[in-house]
Amino acid sequence: MDQKFDWDRRILEKYAVSAPRYTSYPTANLFSEDFTEEDYSEACAKLNHRISPISVYVHIPFCQRACFYCGCNRTITRSKKKIQEYLEGLYREIARRSDSFSHRRVLQLHWGGGTPNYLDNSQMTELMHELATHFELDGSESRDFSIEIDPRSVEEQSIALIRGLGFNRISLGIQDFDPEVQRAINRVQPYEFIRELMQEINRFDFSSVNFDLIYGLPHQNLERMKKTLDQVVRLKPDRIACYNYAHMPDRFPAQRAIASTALPGVEQKLSICELIGKTLTENGYQHIGLDHFALNDDELCRAAETGNLQRNFQGYSRTLAEDLVGIGASAISEVGDCYAQNQKDLNSYLDVSRNAGLPIIKGIRLSKDDRIRKKIIQSICCKLRLDMEEIETEFGISFRRMFSQQLESLKPLERDGLVRWNNSVLEVSYAGRFVLRNICMLFDQYLQSKAPQSFSKVV
Ligand code: SF4
Repeated sequence: MDQKFDWDRRILEKYAVSAPRYTSYPTANLFSEDFTEEDYSEACAKLNHRISPISVYVHIPFCQRACFYCGCNRTITRSKKKIQEYLEGLYREIARRSDSFSHRRVLQLHWGGGTPNYLDNSQMTELMHELATHFELDGSESRDFSIEIDPRSVEEQSIALIRGLGFNRISLGIQDFDPEVQRAINRVQPYEFIRELMQEINRFDFSSVNFDLIYGLPHQNLERMKKTLDQVVRLKPDRIACYNYAHMPDRFPAQRAIASTALPGVEQKLSICELIGKTLTENGYQHIGLDHFALNDDELCRAAETGNLQRNFQGYSRTLAEDLVGIGASAISEVGDCYAQNQKDLNSYLDVSRNAGLPIIKGIRLSKDDRIRKKIIQSICCKLRLDMEEIETEFGISFRRMFSQQLESLKPLERDGLVRWNNSVLEVSYAGRFVLRNICMLFDQYLQSKAPQSFSKVV
């Protein structure tokens, strides 16, 4: 894989616009309330013949305190009763969802949040037990069972328990090690504390450890980020997701505690982004695409090289399952040609689960046009290439005719060295990895009518 760090800052500045993250296509803001539980059940019924493995996502929305940058669907609470009520709602949903999938192995499992490890050790055990009762959880080494961890909520013995429950991948929310940045985002977790936690994690032989970092946070600058990256590299996580902070205080009230004057400007953010790419690639990481890096010997790199990478709501992962079952408030399922999202509001979620239904609030059934564009966007994000002939063969279309306008729009990106043509295959250059979202946008039918300002900035 060509990992030469050859970007031109002036060129990338041009592409620092708002764009979707393309964890799905069509993007979740286009899901409609016309899509109902019946539509979801119909989509599941059509898959009865499938025996391939599935992926399950479980959403735990609780956190102990609010990180100011947060845009997740989460509830700050210390109420044990509230958490227990939610778990009981989850158990009812697990039992109902599993009806359509009990004959298929779960090869991928992800607990996200919120803070999954805000559950105490007995609650985590009970939840995994419920999942194992209703689904066939894979026990082989090829499974991907991952959990997001807030280091500040790790209890004694939690790591041993998490491994014992069958998780073989663990992801830590780090964001930044600088004390002033940590104070400004209300997330204080010193480097020494994380170093000791990593020692504990390393005792349990997880297949991979992921760090989430964020750039563009208040008080970040080049010098501070350099120090954070040095510390990160010393701890050597297998994977690093480095997200761009999207400051949207009108949408996410917690962000109002962040003074916009403390945020780095576009110039500074670009320098930080450049530093991240340079430091990580010089220290044995490959840039998988968008905001993800992985050590050269990590399975994610091998999956990228063999074209077996997928991108969904949890970011990049190996392609192991065809359908995704989302469980819990706000969780999204991807079943057959449909996306279906659950109620976000906890009370509404629980009300539905107390009755006999599934808590689906909205979704979308993909048209043929959607499926073609989804395939194109997945290919750009995951394979860093787009083979026109492959799309033509799969969908029986003339790519040049259907996307003549897009082929024209790609020319400036080609001139800027972000993509190049190799016969009928479009290849993304190394610099192009930072602007994959811009390339995908060209193929997004819905952006023609939608103002992209409602999405975060690319850089
Ligand atoms: S960033 Fe994570 S831990 Fe912090 S409030 Fe959001 S979901 Fe909770």
